[in-house]
Amino acid sequence: MTVYKGPVFDMAVNQFGVIADHLEIPKDERARLLMPKRSVTVSCPIHLDDGSVQVFEGYRVQHHLTLGPTKGGTRFAPQVDLGEVAALAIWMSWKCALVGLPYGGAKGGISVDPLALSPKELEHLARRYMQEMIPFVGPHTDVMAPDMGTNEQVMAWFMDTYSMYQGKTVTEIVTGKPVSAGGTLGRREATGRGVAYLIRRVMGDMSIKLNEATAVIQGFGNVGSFTAFELQRFGVKIIAVSDHTGALHRASGLDVASLMEYTKKHGSLRGYSDALQYDPQEMLTLPCDVLVPAAVERVITPEIAGKLRCRILAEAANGPTTPEADLILDKRQDEIFVLPDILANAGGVIVSYFEWVQDLQQLFWEEEEVTRREYHILDRAFDQMVRRAQIEKVSHRTAAMAIGVEKVRAAKQTRGLFP
Ligand code: NAD
Repeated sequence: MTVYKGPVFDMAVNQFGVIADHLEIPKDERARLLMPKRSVTVSCPIHLDDGSVQVFEGYRVQHHLTLGPTKGGTRFAPQVDLGEVAALAIWMSWKCALVGLPYGGAKGGISVDPLALSPKELEHLARRYMQEMIPFVGPHTDVMAPDMGTNEQVMAWFMDTYSMYQGKTVTEIVTGKPVSAGGTLGRREATGRGVAYLIRRVMGDMSIKLNEATAVIQGFGNVGSFTAFELQRFGVKIIAVSDHTGALHRASGLDVASLMEYTKKHGSLRGYSDALQYDPQEMLTLPCDVLVPAAVERVITPEIAGKLRCRILAEAANGPTTPEADLILDKRQDEIFVLPDILANAGGVIVSYFEWVQDLQQLFWEEEEVTRREYHILDRAFDQMVRRAQIEKVSHRTAAMAIGVEKVRAAKQTRGLFP
């Protein structure tokens, strides 16, 4: 019996089973590695602008505390539930271990459509959520960050709320803050930059010329837009993008800077151009060099996986590929290079770690140093993953997750089981 339910949690369990079998982890050790250490559910009542009161359900799941504090984003989205948050926390653990950060994974969220709230209502909800979480988080316990539906402003409200209760400014309680409130240079761009950097590496290995390459990107929020921006800077043509309101396609390439300006002003791609409208599902199977899912989970289904016409699948989102689709991608390994989520989007948590370190030390780095160190860590993890996949003849996902799971397991074994 477990309180964690739903397709996304089942996916995390299923993936862990594959890794545990591959690593021949004894059955009685598995639950200790997989099941979250703590989960908190809170009711967040707020006043709406019309004077009424609405209660929103919020969650935080801390997966393991073996390597240090837990670390992970906070998602404001209608489909958020405890099972999804737990799955995302588990994936964060393997990701942090893969890239060598001293954290366990965590995730949080509120089941809400943030676009349906006014700025004042959003602020009230963000502050109330953090206030409810104060007994369970801390700079050395659990450090929050942005995820889907939250941004730098929400992180600033989280930090301010926590600090008000402490009677002093505690910038290191959250990462992904604005630079004006203790954030680091390069965090806003970090996840997308990391995705694009790794894609460029893979294109180099596959002898794909950047200025002849094409990309399709699903999701045009923080991660999708900065991935598109960086790829375009490298010379890659962005032939299609989408968000929750629809997709745009232009074979000769879209103007990413103008799309970013438009979404900043209007909140989404809706209304950018009627002439460029395209079917969002069909967009995923357009012929291209790289497909970047950068939105929600479970979009690469077995049906889509069979029809993909990309040469690289760069998973910027968490959990975009179902385990059933993975079986198909395994058979297409010679055609499609998969950059699995726990590596592809790790640039975000790597630079969040740099932000936490800088806040603790009150010593701030130049953006060039932040980015250089981010790429160095990504390169190291990429090399380890590719080598391991070749030696053990497994998929990149299995190799990357095996490295992560193995590190958490080793830490638990050397620390022992209390009492
Ligand atoms: P965001 O809220 O900034 O943007 C999300 C985007 O996805 C929006 O453009 C939204 O319209 C779009 N979207 C939502 N549902 C969609 C659908 N069904 N089809 C197409 N587009 C859809 O979120 P984000 O921070 O860019 O996060 C995107 C993904 O990247 C999530 O899976 C998140 O967990 C992951 N991620 C984010 C970070 C980070 O630093 N923000 C780090 C690692 C991983």
